[in-house]
Amino acid sequence: MVNEPTAVEAKASDFRFPDAPEEEKYSVCVHCGFCLEVCPTYQAWGDENHSPRGRVYLIKACAEGELPLDESVIDPVFTCLDCRACETVCPSGVQVGALVEEARGQVFFARDAEGKRDPIMRFFLRGVFPRPARLRAIRRLMRFYQRSGLRRLVHATGMLNVLPAQMREMEDVIPDIGRGPAIDVLPETMAPRGETKAAALLFTGCVMDVFFSDVNEATARVLVRNGVEVRVPKDQVCCGALQVHAGDRDMAREMAKRNIEVFERSGADYVAINAAGCGAALKEYPELFRDDPAWRDRAVQFSSRVRDISQLLVEVGFDPPKAELPMTVTYHDACHLCHAQKIRYEPRSLLKSVPGLTLREMPDSDRCCGSAGIYNLTHPAMANELLERKMDDVPAGVEAIVMGNPGCMMQIRLGVKRRNQPLRVMHTVEVLDLAYQREGSR
Ligand code: SF4
Ligand code: SF4
Repeated sequence: MVNEPTAVEAKASDFRFPDAPEEEKYSVCVHCGFCLEVCPTYQAWGDENHSPRGRVYLIKACAEGELPLDESVIDPVFTCLDCRACETVCPSGVQVGALVEEARGQVFFARDAEGKRDPIMRFFLRGVFPRPARLRAIRRLMRFYQRSGLRRLVHATGMLNVLPAQMREMEDVIPDIGRGPAIDVLPETMAPRGETKAAALLFTGCVMDVFFSDVNEATARVLVRNGVEVRVPKDQVCCGALQVHAGDRDMAREMAKRNIEVFERSGADYVAINAAGCGAALKEYPELFRDDPAWRDRAVQFSSRVRDISQLLVEVGFDPPKAELPMTVTYHDACHLCHAQKIRYEPRSLLKSVPGLTLREMPDSDRCCGSAGIYNLTHPAMANELLERKMDDVPAGVEAIVMGNPGCMMQIRLGVKRRNQPLRVMHTVEVLDLAYQREGSR
């Protein structure tokens, strides 16, 4: 007698919450190893588990019930910088970043279910970043701290020594908090100069508007100068990138819904964004709504209108500056601009259009600087190693390092400070704005 074949019992996976890493994402890895060369954590530690291929393998094993969701998976998933350098070289198009973010979502949900929440992280993810009023209050406090003499007192008394070294150093490179934030200072609508080419919602962001509101104001001026009507809805919120990176996908979804509604009401043609990390997050909103067809369609519509500022200016046909700006600069490719959004040509095209400006390329300009959201605070040793390598690569004789992301701007300011170099750290749009301002003074 022939025995009936018995069905193989499926093993239970520890990925038991919604939004789990998808089979169609991890199953396409062909284990070729092309990604190992470019992965900063693999390069540093030489450990397959901390490589893109290793992380994809661990996520797959966990999804298929071969491995439990314990530290052997969690640690490699959280040491990933989410820099996406692996995606640029992967011949199979494996979305390592999305897989890592989805796996972090499982960890976040599991810790919640087990009552193992990190209260400080949760406070920032849910109590600060999604709440513009609290971000404004933090900004006001920091401005008071810098301008009232309190900062001098704190430094003189050594009170900062209670903080970890990395946070102490970061405090030292916080830019001067000027007037602003841009979301309050800029009018709700700014008419373009000359013919109207398009209308754009200016996405002001959280970190950008707290620390670099000058960049947001420069962005608005440059858009207006180039025939783009600027709309600044006051009810927009932070993009939710930090929540996605930390695994808090429910909060990220709430924030995404709010921003999609704001854009739909604005009637703008585009969402203009000057922060690479936020731009990538806004373009990836559909990932958050894969199980919600109604919102997914709206997210797809929304994301198709998102443009990095350099991308938008090239698309509408920007006006090259007329005045000379004699400056030698180098350009750092922010990971979420070059790897996540595949934008390399447009920022360079803006810089090269400036008369008198010399762009001196740095080697490996697309290697992560170590900022990676809050990675430089959670994994300072790795972040510092990457920063050192970045600073070693800055060509001699440049006056400024230019980039398109506030996290990189903070991290590279730290590198400049450590090396005591007379270098400016600038956003691409600030260079263009400076060149336009010189036209007026000719
Ligand atoms: S390059 Fe892509 S397909 Fe090859 S091992 Fe890495 S993730 Fe897998
Ligand atoms: S995203 Fe960056 S750190 Fe993470 S696996 Fe890919 S290359 Fe490595």
